[in-house]
Amino acid sequence: MDLELTEAQRAARDTARRFARERLERVGVEIDRTHEFPAKAVRELGELGMLGVFIPEQYGGAGLDNVSYALVIEEISVECASTGVIVSAHSSLGSWPILGLGTEDQRAHYLPKMATGQWLGCFALTEPQAGSDAAGQKTRAVLDGDSYVINGTKNFITNGPEAGVCILFAMTAPDKGHHGISAFIVETSSPGFQTTRIEDKMGIHGAHSAQLSFSDVRVPRENLLVGEGEGFKVAMKTLDGGRIGIAAQAVGIGRASLEASLKYAQEREAFGRPIASNQAIQWKLADMAVEVDAARLLTLQAAARKDQGLSCTKQSAMAKLFAAEAAMKAATEAVQIHGGYGYTKEFKVERYFRDAKITEIYEGTSEIQRLVISGQVLRNN
Ligand SMILES: Cc1cc2nc3c(=O)[nH]c(=O)nc-3n(C[C@H](O)[C@H](O)[C@H](O)COP(=O)(O)OP(=O)(O)OC[C@H]3O[C@@H](n4cnc5c(N)ncnc54)[C@H](O)[C@@H]3O)c2cc1C
Repeated sequence: MDLELTEAQRAARDTARRFARERLERVGVEIDRTHEFPAKAVRELGELGMLGVFIPEQYGGAGLDNVSYALVIEEISVECASTGVIVSAHSSLGSWPILGLGTEDQRAHYLPKMATGQWLGCFALTEPQAGSDAAGQKTRAVLDGDSYVINGTKNFITNGPEAGVCILFAMTAPDKGHHGISAFIVETSSPGFQTTRIEDKMGIHGAHSAQLSFSDVRVPRENLLVGEGEGFKVAMKTLDGGRIGIAAQAVGIGRASLEASLKYAQEREAFGRPIASNQAIQWKLADMAVEVDAARLLTLQAAARKDQGLSCTKQSAMAKLFAAEAAMKAATEAVQIHGGYGYTKEFKVERYFRDAKITEIYEGTSEIQRLVISGQVLRNN
């Protein structure tokens, strides 16, 4: 088993790290305050090839693997978790279904614009009444001539207001339950496609989570992904990869929490000596370091399996569950190590604490990850 990164993987990580330190450090602070979408930074990431990391060169992407992708998302998220999820939702949830499950015509039409960021992607599965229970879709798609007519509402869609392309799930046969769901590639400029609300959230303020509404949106028949009734499978396969992105985002937030704590614990003095000289603080730092490294290893394991074409359902759920909980713990301890100052906006750990929480919720809550993992381990026994 080789745990060394290849030269290409190291280069991708180092490029993302440099960009994040030079460009995203300030952006992370600013957009947390203003709630603005980091349009300029996202454009620059597109120019660097970071919006098409695993898209093959023939479609204008960087032609790298999922391990490189996870490393890139971690580096971005160390400085700005909002930008981390913007890139992850665009890549794993918006672009991958077209790359991995689309027809050659669909790939050739959409991926070149997505790989460069000319079009951002989003993924619209969640509805007001259908979150964890994603099969309870009410959005309807009805075939009318050569196009489907879509009506309905989606909640919490990351990149919703900025996206050019939406992977949209709708019922084509409501009497068939989850076998009646279909997936569509929808251009957000289509008449009737609207952003009706942007949520005011606890964290990741620069990544907009939108309510999208569809009123008689016409989608050409050729924009159906895979086939009628295959939408639930499309969603689950896509989330297998998406969870690698969120796990990597969590690793980034956990690492940022650890790095800030290491610095502060050696600078801050109490009782005439640095607080880092207390074993109680040292143990917190040790636990954070172990869990962030373990989270990264689980994440890269899931990414490597995806690169090998192996199933990664269990591994990506494990990585997302463990990394999210590690990030939440690390951010909580980081605030604790910073004492009263950690509870103020003067230190970034207050933001890490708010940003970490979402990794335990989206792309399947931690409870749902445990359901996925237990289903997998029980099946194999
Ligand atoms: C910031 C943000 C961004 C998001 N981005 C997107 C996006 O881009 N696209 C998209 O489609 N969705 C997105 N979502 C939606 C997200 O995936 C859902 O919010 C999440 O899956 C949970 O669904 P819910 O909010 O309806 O909670 P519910 O499903 O109502 O769950 C409520 C609670 O019940 C628990 N629960 C539910 N069922 C079970 C069970 N069987 N066993 C044990 N516990 C259970 C849950 O774990 C949770 O703790 C986003 C959400 C947020 C907040």
